[in-house]
Amino acid sequence: MKIIDLITKSTLSLSFEVFPPKTETSFESVKAATEEIAKLRPAFMSVTYGAGGGTSKYTLDIAKNIKELYGVPTLGHLTCVSSDKETVRQKIEEIKASGIENVMALRGDIPGELEGADRSKWDYRHAIDLVLELKAANPDFCIGGACYPEIHPESANQKEDIKYLKEKVDAGCDFLTTQMFFDNNLLYNFLYKIREAGITVPVIPGIMPITNANQVARAIKLSGSFMPQRFKSLVDKFGSDPLAMKQAGIAYATDQIIDLYANGITDVHVYSMNKPDVAEKIQSNLCDMLGK
Ligand code: FAD
Repeated sequence: MKIIDLITKSTLSLSFEVFPPKTETSFESVKAATEEIAKLRPAFMSVTYGAGGGTSKYTLDIAKNIKELYGVPTLGHLTCVSSDKETVRQKIEEIKASGIENVMALRGDIPGELEGADRSKWDYRHAIDLVLELKAANPDFCIGGACYPEIHPESANQKEDIKYLKEKVDAGCDFLTTQMFFDNNLLYNFLYKIREAGITVPVIPGIMPITNANQVARAIKLSGSFMPQRFKSLVDKFGSDPLAMKQAGIAYATDQIIDLYANGITDVHVYSMNKPDVAEKIQSNLCDMLGK
């Protein structure tokens, strides 16, 4: 099932994100965690891709397993920046052969050792290069792209970021998923600006439940996210109490989703990151809105 056909436009619908194992030894435990999440029957599940690393081969295994065992539509992530054309084309062929219809086309982060390198000879410099490659390989792929309500950290300004986002969408993205954010007003503002710029595809907001204090620094580093005072107070108060922090983080994420739904957004992606208990709790908090 294509994600574009799952966008509900009327009732609240959640999707969950998981990540593949880093090593063969953790494969079974990751597989079990992702299956627990699949049992919640989300709209779809996305499986991240370990850019340039040895974990990339597990993305497809986990995605196929969820799809085949539980019938949950899957979105396989793929990055391109640290790969050559041959490797990426082979990956695309594997995705095609697996029957996975949805691909999140990403550039990936520039590895530290390549920062400052001459990029003119790279096979892939931006996600748009991968979008074009995917479309050429299979016009039927449903392609997702990443977007950044608080602008991508490498962008000079939002106008430039949105200009390149429009080019990426026009190259063939069927939908966009946002980077995490902790203040919904940032998303509303962003949506207004991209619609004004002529980007009309569905945008699925990504919500990250922060369930331990260590995640905060990582989230800021990854996304440059603005932390509202209400969120900071919660981390100050509960950061040293793991159970209370988890409860508060889930409540905060739930609240964000309710506000999004109240403002007309029906499809929300939850960065549940292999935590079935967190995914389950968020879903049960919203059961009446989800009709589950
Ligand atoms: P791009 O769309 O290429 O944008 C990157 C930067 O380049 C932006 O500043 C953009 O404005 C600029 N740009 C774009 N096109 C041009 C152009 N033609 N000329 C000049 N500048 C341009 N990483 C992983 O490794 N694995 C994952 O599974 C993964 N999943 C993700 C899922 C989501 C929803 C999000 C938001 C991010 C994810 N990431 C993942 C992180 C992502 O790889 C990084 O944020 C990366 O730095 C940018 O990827 P992109 O696809 O947004 O790149």
